[in-house]
Amino acid sequence: MVSAENSAVRSTGNPARNLIPVTIAQGDGVGPEIMAAVRRVLDAAGAPLAYEEIEIGERVYRSGVSSGIRPEAWDSLRRTKVFLKAPITTPQGGGYKSLNVTIRKTMGLYANVRPVRTYAPYVETIHPTMDVVVVRENEEDLYAGIEHRQTDEVYQCLKLITRPGCERIVRYAFEYAVANGRKKVTCMTKDNIMKLTDGLFHRVFEEIGTEYPQIQQEHMIIDIGMARVAKYPERFDVIVTPNLYGDILSDVVAEVAGTVGLAPSANIGDQVAMFEAIHGSAPDIAGKGIANPSGLLLSAVMMLVHVGEAECASRIHNAWLGAVEDGAATADLGGSYTTEQFADAVIHHLGSHPQHHLPAVAYTAPPKKKVPTLRIPRIAEKTMIGIDVFVHHWGAVDSLAERLTAVAGDDFELQMITNRGVKVWPAGMPETFCTDHWRCRFMSRNERPVTHAHLVALLGRIAENGVDFIKSENLCLFDGAPGFSLGQGQ
Ligand code: NAD
Repeated sequence: MVSAENSAVRSTGNPARNLIPVTIAQGDGVGPEIMAAVRRVLDAAGAPLAYEEIEIGERVYRSGVSSGIRPEAWDSLRRTKVFLKAPITTPQGGGYKSLNVTIRKTMGLYANVRPVRTYAPYVETIHPTMDVVVVRENEEDLYAGIEHRQTDEVYQCLKLITRPGCERIVRYAFEYAVANGRKKVTCMTKDNIMKLTDGLFHRVFEEIGTEYPQIQQEHMIIDIGMARVAKYPERFDVIVTPNLYGDILSDVVAEVAGTVGLAPSANIGDQVAMFEAIHGSAPDIAGKGIANPSGLLLSAVMMLVHVGEAECASRIHNAWLGAVEDGAATADLGGSYTTEQFADAVIHHLGSHPQHHLPAVAYTAPPKKKVPTLRIPRIAEKTMIGIDVFVHHWGAVDSLAERLTAVAGDDFELQMITNRGVKVWPAGMPETFCTDHWRCRFMSRNERPVTHAHLVALLGRIAENGVDFIKSENLCLFDGAPGFSLGQGQ
């Protein structure tokens, strides 16, 4: 381990005691201020932690590391397997990748867990009894980050949903519900539109749900689900949802509860876990000493439960509740406490319980049971029966159809052309707006299976005819069921 002041990893704490190693990062903006406050509370509460500090974020980005994290820092995360992270600033533009997404995906942190409860009447909300946990899939969906510019007018982002990814997160949500005495799990997707991708998430939810008959289960389409959460959050308990919806939903839930400034989060993987507030680096108030350290402190509480220090976690959370009841509030909560004064108030309440409206907490060690990553190989019988060829073409669809029909050959027929998913040939509508990006579906004649050689030959003929194909997708049957969607209007 490196211990020089200016190295990427610096360790503090007393290694002579039996301390639990954790990696911490101060982050940017208000990060160092709230991390200092949280460290003071953890130390005062006797949290048995040994800190390895790593530098991540803006300075690392600006030093030319486009990921925002250096190789030595990865070593620390792999060694301690526990990371308490203050928010960082992602510089705009310049090809910088989101460090959060990089850490989540590299370390396999597949579950993003955001418990949100209210602290009325001390934190204003019109939903004083809500108590919702959002379990967001953390690695897949549009966050796979596979994007391409394909034509003059069209850009694409691939939405990837996998069966093992769905199984892991759905099982995690049910196991979380069981371990935490929760009654209901709601699944939210948009499978009325995305029948294959979100349809898989919903189907896996129903399959795995049969193993948890003691838990109430429901599915909602994400748009109405999110609207209901905003209006009737007390009707919800645990919500499991794909990545993008979960990203938005968890901020909505936190804001409905009062403020995003209080919400903690855990990013859980099989090996490593990362804990952080859900707010950002708040550059507008950085350096003023007025930031609310609660989001990071409550994340540290989740971390203590995770490492088996449930008693210490309860002690800190109850002290925090007591301080809030006694009027400790930073500017975002309508008070005038500085970050330091807020931390002092929490330290002052260590050892006591909330006395008035807020219920005390009593954490227990998490069950040792690990959520199994089921990877049952399901090898389907796969038959190729066609190909979607995407082309870059300016002009009328009829001329494109004519050129493509001429090269379809004996093996294929041009079945349809769509533009942004809507069928425009044959028999398109003049009202449909068309861009320069066309999906041309070739099906094998007489439903004969085709080979890669057939597909390559077809692509060759298309190119020879001067048509600019930009990508293709094979059309397959999996155990006889189509692995592709129909065109809108087909
Ligand atoms: P933000 O959460 O930093 O700030 C939004 C508003 O909330 C600001 O008015 C801010 O002053 C206030 N706020 C946030 N945290 C607060 C706290 N602890 N106490 C009091 N007030 C607080 O969101 P933003 O302005 O959209 O983003 C700023 C930067 O943070 C960006 O660079 C963004 O990329 C980054 N960010 C990082 C993370 C992370 O590291 N996990 C998360 C979100 C945003």
